[in-house]
Amino acid sequence: MKNTVTVIRDIRTFFKGRLSENEPLSAHTWYQIGGPCSIYAIPETTDALIQLIHYCRSNGVPVFVLGKGSNLLVSDSGISGVVIDLSECCSFTDFDEMRVTAGAGVQVPKLVLDCEKKSLGGIEMFAGIPGTVGGAIKMNAGCHGKEFFDVTVSVNFLDGDSIETWPKSKIEFSYRHVKTFDDPARIILSATLQLEKTDIAVLTEKRKHFMKIRQQTQPINLPSSGSVFKNPAGDHAARLIDACGLKGYRRGGAVISEKHANFFVNEGNAKAADVLEIIRHTQAVVKKQFGIKLELEVKLVGFTSEELHSVGLA
Ligand SMILES: Cc1cc2nc3c(=O)[nH]c(=O)nc-3n(C[C@H](O)[C@H](O)[C@H](O)COP(=O)(O)OP(=O)(O)OC[C@H]3O[C@@H](n4cnc5c(N)ncnc54)[C@H](O)[C@@H]3O)c2cc1C
Repeated sequence: MKNTVTVIRDIRTFFKGRLSENEPLSAHTWYQIGGPCSIYAIPETTDALIQLIHYCRSNGVPVFVLGKGSNLLVSDSGISGVVIDLSECCSFTDFDEMRVTAGAGVQVPKLVLDCEKKSLGGIEMFAGIPGTVGGAIKMNAGCHGKEFFDVTVSVNFLDGDSIETWPKSKIEFSYRHVKTFDDPARIILSATLQLEKTDIAVLTEKRKHFMKIRQQTQPINLPSSGSVFKNPAGDHAARLIDACGLKGYRRGGAVISEKHANFFVNEGNAKAADVLEIIRHTQAVVKKQFGIKLELEVKLVGFTSEELHSVGLA
């Protein structure tokens, strides 16, 4: 890879959008954790995004697409390469009768409210998922018995140099994993969702009900990444962690929440290394007590292969 000064100078010659160097990712992750990235780019348009991706691919510059950073643990040393924020170039919402097409940068809670205003339901249970449409499609996010691919009709994405629209039937998805989008060259641009005509008062009530459950059961007042582990088949990661007596287990400013054992919260100045150590410890204790290997739901970014290996990745 060329050095950062050369890369940013090159990018400035063609890029339409905002660029910054050494941007602290702690300002862009829900955890409020993460070192800097070499370059942070907010393209204004899809064309600007495509040009930027093309430059990065041709010059061997690593790219990471960031949503709201609500399912990420970014290492304390940060990410080398370009982090791309789609909040400006992919921020549209188009309604067509009972369908909505939403840009990848649209925030899920806002989308739910916009649909509610049009008496369109089917996604009200997602109101408390603090991510973007792109992140929700990538993760097949879900809650209260429903997941994004239950309502997804098609996904529009950048695949290298071409733009593709694939129907749900062509996309390989499962619980909190979409194999089709494992390929980092695939950048989700938008998704079309199928909604249902529903009385607005009913939708408002349901949304408030789901938000109340969340407030009662999750430590949403503290920075976190939501559930750290996926639920193993037929069980709940939170139940297993709690049964091991790990609630309150802490490292530095990171602690396993007393309210929800699968949330590891940042109580102050937690480092990524603190959270990683709690993850490693929790996996080891649960494995010893129950023989179950907990699989990560949170995405780890910018860690060394040794660090990833310690939590069963890479
Ligand atoms: C308080 C709290 C509650 C939560 N509750 C839930 C819940 O109920 N259910 C649930 O499923 N999750 C939940 N989460 C986790 C998280 O909100 C979801 O996984 C969400 O979908 C992540 O979206 P994001 O935009 O923040 O993605 P990010 O965290 O920014 O990124 C996640 C992954 O998606 C990739 N990505 C993002 N955008 C794109 C794109 N356009 N194209 C390609 N790849 C992309 C990133 O590269 C990364 O690999 C919760 C998190 C928190 C903090």
